[in-house]
Amino acid sequence: MKKTGNRIAKRTGKIGRFGLCALIILLLVFGIAGCRFSEGNKNTNEDKGMNEVVNAEDMHKEEVGETVLTEAPEGENRDSGDIQSIIEYGSNILVAAHYPTYGKDNIDTISKDFITKYIENLKRELAEDPYYDEDFDYELNIDFKTYNAPNNLVSVIFNITENSSSLAHPIVEVETKVYDLSNDLEIELSDIMDGDYLVHISQLCENYFRTDDYYKDNIDLSIFEEGIYPSEENYRNFLFQEDRLVIVFDKYQLFSGNFGMPSVELAYTELADYIKPELQKFFIPEEGLLAEEEVIEEPITDIIFPKREIDSAKPMIALTFDDGPNKETTGPILDILREYNSVATFFVLGNRVSIYADFLRQMLEEGNEIGNHSYNHKELTKLSLPELKEQIMDTQEAVITHTGYEPKLMRPTYGSYNDKVKSEIDMPLILWSIDTLDWKSRDANKVADHVLANVKDGDIILMHDIFASTAEATQLLVPKLIDMGFQLVTVSELYESKGEKLESGNAYHSPRK
Ligand code: ZN
Repeated sequence: MKKTGNRIAKRTGKIGRFGLCALIILLLVFGIAGCRFSEGNKNTNEDKGMNEVVNAEDMHKEEVGETVLTEAPEGENRDSGDIQSIIEYGSNILVAAHYPTYGKDNIDTISKDFITKYIENLKRELAEDPYYDEDFDYELNIDFKTYNAPNNLVSVIFNITENSSSLAHPIVEVETKVYDLSNDLEIELSDIMDGDYLVHISQLCENYFRTDDYYKDNIDLSIFEEGIYPSEENYRNFLFQEDRLVIVFDKYQLFSGNFGMPSVELAYTELADYIKPELQKFFIPEEGLLAEEEVIEEPITDIIFPKREIDSAKPMIALTFDDGPNKETTGPILDILREYNSVATFFVLGNRVSIYADFLRQMLEEGNEIGNHSYNHKELTKLSLPELKEQIMDTQEAVITHTGYEPKLMRPTYGSYNDKVKSEIDMPLILWSIDTLDWKSRDANKVADHVLANVKDGDIILMHDIFASTAEATQLLVPKLIDMGFQLVTVSELYESKGEKLESGNAYHSPRK
């Protein structure tokens, strides 16, 4: 099993920096920074919140986003396995953490434990931090990529971002895991390689940095020699890919911080002497067997959008579902909508689109609307402009690639936005007029009762299609709302029927006058 004990030490080492930054920024901008509307409490102080968000944003503009995520190139694959998410709203610690599952008990638990422990550790550290201030806005985002490798291995790289209104730079780090899907086990380098493999890998990496134009003149031996030394700890982040091993180094491990997290790609042919004899046939195919892989473009189904009849004179509302699609819960929601000839709007996360593309096509074929809810649920107000664009465009591209449909609406994560978010996103921002707090109660009856007690013509209702309780609540709600005389329409249909135009640069809660 892989050693991860350094995690705690590493995280504990960070807290001093965390606290110090917190103190400095606290002194500088006491009373200005750090506000947001969470999806839980946004209706309370919107206008006040807006100004504060703008100020905090200006403060960060220059610095956020310098840190470059390590993106091991090529071979990204999200087509195997499922995606699970832990998304927490409603406090000053925002969490959106995603991890893959493969229906394998051991490795699914390893991923889940890694994610949940990371979240718990962050919360514990914040609670113990003498400079912790609940007026600051903290955010943890964990997303991942996966790569298929020989012999039914899959490599996972978790990209972890910790952000705070008290920090000038977000803290970015990675953690890798390699799983053997056939045997439901986590893999170490020593499971694949033997002999002096670490010395060999270390030499190849050292050689790479000493000759690469970008790195060679920036080697500070006092840091570099320790970081490149062939120890398990130094080489604990690695990815097996189709034809190569990728070593990922920590920020500051070899170079100063502005070099981010360097990675080195080593072809299996360079490592051949150190790959275990019985595994050679998987990693080093005989000459000629490594045929160019044919890229098959997934055909886009020509979706026939159903023509829907809406009576503008009758009352109507828009149910909206965020953070999905989700394997277990989106299906039942679509089923009950279809049964009652009704539709909703699904604000999807880009990192789920390729995995659950079938749900997206079904949504459109049945007359539902798909909106954009960012790629991996980062808080948009904290992002640099390039990161903001990436969150939006990666999701647009994913939806277009898999459905041919281009989303026209944006729902900002955590309901949080500012002038920059409004002006840079080329879509209207859609908020809501009824917040079911479904994420908090996880109680189908409470969610349904709250809607039924408050619903009026023109309402936009916020729910999340990642909870079983919300799917159940929808099954209760749809027949009752129809009985009450409401038409269940998409957000775009709602505004069109009410004769109000949706324009980018604006935020909308309800077309009700
Ligand atoms: Zn959300």
